[in-house]
Amino acid sequence: MFSKVKSAAICGIESRIISVEVDVANGLPQFSMVGFLNAQVREAQDRVRTAIKNSGYHLTPKKVTVNLAPADIRKSGPGFDLPIAVAVMASYGFFSQDMLEDIFLAGELGLDGSIRGICGVLGMVMEARRAGCKSCIIPEENIREGAVIQGIQVFGASHLKEVVEHFISCRKLHIAFINIEEKFSEKPVRTALDFADIRGQHTLKRAAEIAAAGMHNLLISGAPGSGKTMIASRIPGILPLMDIEESLEVSQIHSVAGLLPPSGILRERPFRMPHHTVSPVALTGGGTVPRPGEISLAHRGVLYLDEIPEFQKETLEILRQPLEEGKIRISRNSGQFVFPSDFMLVASRNPCKCGYYPDRTRCHCNEYEVMRYLHKISRPLLDRIDLHAEAGEVQYEELAREGSEETTAEIRKRVLEAQRLQKRRYAGSTFRFNSDLTAAELKDYCPMDDEVKLQLKRIYEQKRLTARSYHKIMKVARTIADLEGCEEIRMRHVGEAVYYRPAEGLQ
Ligand SMILES: [Zn+2]
Repeated sequence: MFSKVKSAAICGIESRIISVEVDVANGLPQFSMVGFLNAQVREAQDRVRTAIKNSGYHLTPKKVTVNLAPADIRKSGPGFDLPIAVAVMASYGFFSQDMLEDIFLAGELGLDGSIRGICGVLGMVMEARRAGCKSCIIPEENIREGAVIQGIQVFGASHLKEVVEHFISCRKLHIAFINIEEKFSEKPVRTALDFADIRGQHTLKRAAEIAAAGMHNLLISGAPGSGKTMIASRIPGILPLMDIEESLEVSQIHSVAGLLPPSGILRERPFRMPHHTVSPVALTGGGTVPRPGEISLAHRGVLYLDEIPEFQKETLEILRQPLEEGKIRISRNSGQFVFPSDFMLVASRNPCKCGYYPDRTRCHCNEYEVMRYLHKISRPLLDRIDLHAEAGEVQYEELAREGSEETTAEIRKRVLEAQRLQKRRYAGSTFRFNSDLTAAELKDYCPMDDEVKLQLKRIYEQKRLTARSYHKIMKVARTIADLEGCEEIRMRHVGEAVYYRPAEGLQ
């Protein structure tokens, strides 16, 4: 007898519907599987047969053929176990094929028949709904991912026996449903990391605020222990929460990587901090079965590269395309994949190899060594960083001072307001934030009076700025004015923006 059921394969971060077809016929007993499968999928036959047996169902030895169609998509992962088991049992006549119409199944089977969680369920359920499935059965472990997809019945199962009983008896699986609109209207629990925990470092905090408001890339320089990482890790907290659409997009990436928290989909923007020994593949994504890398996991959030000069040059060079386009293209034998990677880059570096330059009591690096260290970051990468901030030493008085520092919530309020202004200003254009502005459009969006223009000209000549630095100053000044709610750019905005530029040649 023949039967089929729908499941899905993961291609990059997208899911594609796969038809699992099973034929059971009389003949020499065997179990064969075809359809461009990798080793993990081929192993399914052993798990499926044993799981069915250990769930208490007897299969008489017959000729079983399993086909996963279409044949041009490479299938990987253990998620086909459950649909294969169900289709095999339908072919054996445990229940009728009619029960399997418009239903989607995915899950890994243990030898005892238990159903284990798999990666990528969120995208699979989304795709199942798009393909017109009315219901889906997914592992109980992944239920919080699947249940946020509206317009499809989502059942969670933890054992093959439960699934079979769902089909043959009145003991149905329970429906899981999370009203996503309601969930998003609730007040979220935000991260425990707060700017109020950091004493002093007002320049850095202000730089973080400006960077967040205009989504500018930020480079922090400072001695070890000056709080660079503490500041960077608090930046997602002052960014606006993701809306439903962004959250589903980002959660889908984390779901494919198997990194979604048990609480379900993400609301806070991601913060990723890969170690400097990270391989290019781990950073960009890839592998024989391409998986999203750190830059895609940071999509719509913050990618923090601590001690950026320590990263391999080749690794950093890869960042150029995603920083430019907000996505990365990866070519493999199995096809071309595009991973979204639109993130805010925050990097930190020591002022020299030992970390204490220009404190000559502690730093013994010579000028050449200092310059060489600073020039380890390539020019094209530096060109994509709008803000440079120096971490100063925190004075004892600041540490001991009574009173409280500004909280994340207070800073966030200003950032939100500045982003709202940008949204209104760039409505209908291709830009979203001040950092997206190109040199040609700067004039249209940065109105200033003649006196400010004159002052700017003077700074340009005095500091011998390059055209590129000049444009960056304008963009940052635009954001500083937005933080003040000021449409026109004033001298004080330009002045502060200049402060966040390093001297030419010392970048
Ligand atoms: Zn040094």
